[in-house]
Amino acid sequence: MSDKTKRLTTTAGAPIADNQNSLTSGPRGPILMQDYQLLEKLAHQNRERIPERVVHAKGWGAHGTLTVTNDITKYTKAKVFSEVGKQTPMICRFSTVAGEAGAADNERDVRGFALKFYTEEGNWDLVGNNTPVFFIRDPYKFPDFIHTQKRHPRTNLRSATAMWDYWSQSPEALHQVTILMSDRGCPRSPTEMNGYGSHTFSMINDDGARVWVKFHFKTQQGHTFYTDAESGEKIGQTREGFQEDLFGRIEAGKFPKWDVKIQVMTEDEAEKTPYNPFDLTKVWPHGDFPLIDVGVLELNRNADNYFAEIENCAYSPSNIVPGVGFSPDKVLQARIFSYADAHRYRLGTHYEQLPVNQPKCPMNHYHKDGTMNHMGQLTGATDAYYEPNTMGGVVQSSDVADPPLGICGDVDRFNHRDGNDDYGQPRALHDLMNADQQGRLYANTARSMVGVPDAIIDLALSHYAKISQQYADGIRSALKGMG
Ligand code: NDP
Repeated sequence: MSDKTKRLTTTAGAPIADNQNSLTSGPRGPILMQDYQLLEKLAHQNRERIPERVVHAKGWGAHGTLTVTNDITKYTKAKVFSEVGKQTPMICRFSTVAGEAGAADNERDVRGFALKFYTEEGNWDLVGNNTPVFFIRDPYKFPDFIHTQKRHPRTNLRSATAMWDYWSQSPEALHQVTILMSDRGCPRSPTEMNGYGSHTFSMINDDGARVWVKFHFKTQQGHTFYTDAESGEKIGQTREGFQEDLFGRIEAGKFPKWDVKIQVMTEDEAEKTPYNPFDLTKVWPHGDFPLIDVGVLELNRNADNYFAEIENCAYSPSNIVPGVGFSPDKVLQARIFSYADAHRYRLGTHYEQLPVNQPKCPMNHYHKDGTMNHMGQLTGATDAYYEPNTMGGVVQSSDVADPPLGICGDVDRFNHRDGNDDYGQPRALHDLMNADQQGRLYANTARSMVGVPDAIIDLALSHYAKISQQYADGIRSALKGMG
């Protein structure tokens, strides 16, 4: 063989003479222990799978660009928004929440909408959904809620009873359940749905002033949906509907786009809203906090290797950059810990060194050693392996500190349902749907209740009646129609 660059080798680089036949004692004989090339192949195959994500295991993604079209520098000093026309490379991963890595794409479920922007001051991740709210407002309930979406320990089947048992005792979930059971709960394509940062975040400008913000990504492709019957038919044809659609569109040069917008609330306004603006089960009504144009998000490049670029892509709400900050949202606070922790378990301590996760700007820190540390020391000087030091190591930048945030109050486990209206916002959503949309909402909800004990359904419907008697009656009558 003349072209040595195309030689098949072992992982240590030695050329392999035969990749078809094992090394045996005679043509019928047993295999020799020294057939290291066979052992290496089998050992690697055993290790091809990594733990799938506990939630959002099935995903589809692509590379793209954020282009700023409107000046928002009065709100933020973030470099990503520093001038109109600025472009920042990014990578997006969509997902379903409940299904495993091999689940069918077109099932009714909330969709993850995770974005990583490679900014010049570090990676900024917005790890949101295609819904502006979520099922819980206290992260203490997240593991319980997710258990209801996963398999029953004995039957190993998903359980409608578990879902409705939980929801019927958690009225704050019904806003999100209304979206899930509406047309928006079963989009035809990841490109034909909106994305939302969902949490309240903050923006900080050059003067050190803070505002609260919500992020919105409005699809330019228009909203589509499958009915339950249509999605069943689609899944019968293919389990990979979203992957085929997203990959195919981008391969064909039909790049999907979203208009990027924010809502802004001042710290003073946040003291006066009738709802807690940091409650993940609530939206900020557009009439009170209008959408402000920011830019356009475009997905324009498929990954060359799905595993390396999409499965290995590790999003975490802890990845913020100067000019964008957190908020007191309790669920956001918990996700700041749990997402990075999940990646350390799933991908390893140095998951941020994987090419898709590496920032595209200088990165310096004093974390040391650990499994698979191939980077050596990133402190700026050989003798600086601790901090502070006089050895020329990297130092903190006090100019990027957030302004102080006033928080005070008694330490307690406050009942998060006290004084909270869990019915008004789902009512507003129910009421903006036309009769056909409401009919599908009632039928989808009723279908998801089939087989659930009557007492649980009655309790759930007592909450629906507080949203709207018409809504509760609609589900009840759809249930009767299903026998
Ligand atoms: P608006 O009439 O200004 O906004 C209603 C929003 O509802 C629109 O953004 C629309 O999205 C969206 N929408 C339409 N159908 C559905 C559906 N089946 N599931 C989810 N969203 C849908 O009213 P308000 O801002 O006062 O909000 C009223 C209700 O609308 C809220 O209680 C909330 O349930 C829902 N909503 C509000 C959002 C917000 O940030 N204010 C965001 C999304 C939903 P589109 O423009 O794409 O058609």
